[in-house]
Amino acid sequence: MNREGRGATTPITTGTPAPTTFTGNHALELEEGLLFEIGRTEVTGVDIEDAGDFTSRLGGHERKLSLDLPGLAEPEAMRHYVRLSRQNYGIDSGLFPLGSCTMKHNPRLNEKMARLPGFADVHPLQPASTVQGALGVIKELSRWLLSLTGMQAVAFTPKAGAHGELCGMMAIKAAHIANGQKRDIVLVPESAHGTNPATAALIGYQVKSIPARADGTVDVESVKAALSPQVAALMLTNPNTCGLFERDVVEIADAVHAAGAYFYADGANFNAILGKVKVGELGVDAMHINLHKTFSTPHGGGGPGAGPVVLSAALAPFAPVPAVVTDGESLRLVEEEGEAGADQALGRMSAFHGQMGMFVRALSWMLSHGADGMQQASEDAVLSANYIRACLKDVMSVPYGERPAMHEALFDDAWLEGTGLSTLDIAKALIDEGYHPMTVYFPLVVHGAMLIEPTESESKASLDLFIGALRDLAFAAKAGEKERFLGAPHYAPRRRLDETRAARAPVLRWTRPPLAEAAE
Ligand SMILES: *Cc1c(COP(=O)(O)O)cnc(C)c1O
Repeated sequence: MNREGRGATTPITTGTPAPTTFTGNHALELEEGLLFEIGRTEVTGVDIEDAGDFTSRLGGHERKLSLDLPGLAEPEAMRHYVRLSRQNYGIDSGLFPLGSCTMKHNPRLNEKMARLPGFADVHPLQPASTVQGALGVIKELSRWLLSLTGMQAVAFTPKAGAHGELCGMMAIKAAHIANGQKRDIVLVPESAHGTNPATAALIGYQVKSIPARADGTVDVESVKAALSPQVAALMLTNPNTCGLFERDVVEIADAVHAAGAYFYADGANFNAILGKVKVGELGVDAMHINLHKTFSTPHGGGGPGAGPVVLSAALAPFAPVPAVVTDGESLRLVEEEGEAGADQALGRMSAFHGQMGMFVRALSWMLSHGADGMQQASEDAVLSANYIRACLKDVMSVPYGERPAMHEALFDDAWLEGTGLSTLDIAKALIDEGYHPMTVYFPLVVHGAMLIEPTESESKASLDLFIGALRDLAFAAKAGEKERFLGAPHYAPRRRLDETRAARAPVLRWTRPPLAEAAE
């Protein structure tokens, strides 16, 4: 493994340099090779009997070489992953200010519910009669989602927000085809998340960008000017990625509908308006909901996402299969397109019914909060973001500062002018201070953007510590302490990486170094 990137062990401000350790370990932070490097093929946790003589039915495709899996004793394997996990930052280790990602606490009650054997042990191919409880959870979750959004139908199978966008946009495309319409343009505001234009392009639409106004919201007049019989849909995030509520959303929706197009809403920022706004009343035709953002199910390294899509009456008939329907006293799945109830279904988004474990967690969060608790959660999320903005606006610069923010606080890099430092340097220095960086350089409409989303799950004490760290960094930046920033992170297991090279020439596969091979 490349160890050249090791962090400096010398604190920057105080005297005696720390000695280098013999092991490469730094107290709790342990240095270890990759599994393949520390494993020995002759060691294994499982004994599988030799297959003996057999006649292969694989037509010569059977594997002839050894599997070459790393062999480790159970404690070695455990330690390896525990050590790795300690080098990672997670919502359980500290405040996770990543904007647009809604990194909120994952309550342990949700985990307990998801681990109930009746949910954890069901198999997707079990007969519906034996999984009525699991189908009941899907039905109940859909009741909550429809009531929270004021929409008509919900498609459960998309596995993430971006997958939900694909589902919603495919429903829009299916609706246009069913209506005999040939439309090939999708309008996307320039502040949109990259997945929006990517989704539209993936299913063959041409993407037309809509500029933002000076106040950070979408320019209604530009939307109207861009609408034509060629436009299939507008994709809009509300509140938008600058953390601002699009106040003209109804006027925009009306214009979109008058032009025969559909209104896709990116629901990733639903946490800001949960229980406050029913998007169906804003004229939305399709919106994905990131259960892993708004409804506290783990994401990132913590687990798979789930991106159910709510649909308006106009798009509901095109929802993908499978769908849970009530059949007398029991629940059943409509599995095939063309079946009664799914005669116009757009097809299938994934093999089975969606992320069951995430459905249980999301419903558990909803039920433990109740309708009033969810409203309170979004109010607190908005309050936390505005508190952060108010406490930092004298040292960092706030674009679009005239209006209160929604659930995230956006800063630009104007305050760094003359310091020789960039947004990236601030983010890296934040790592040294024990925080995951905020979202940087997004949204693109703001120069050197820093987007902070504290969510409702941080206490005021925890917000104050985070604000304190950022204030100290801001003062240090302005005082010309450049080394603190340019060399950061000083204390992370790896120093600053060449991110461009990592993206352009990623090394995704480990190959045995030639020397090790020769020694065997
Ligand atoms: C997170 C996010 C998405 C994509 O959701 P995934 O679940 O990550 O695929 C789309 N739009 C916005 C605004 C987001 O924040």
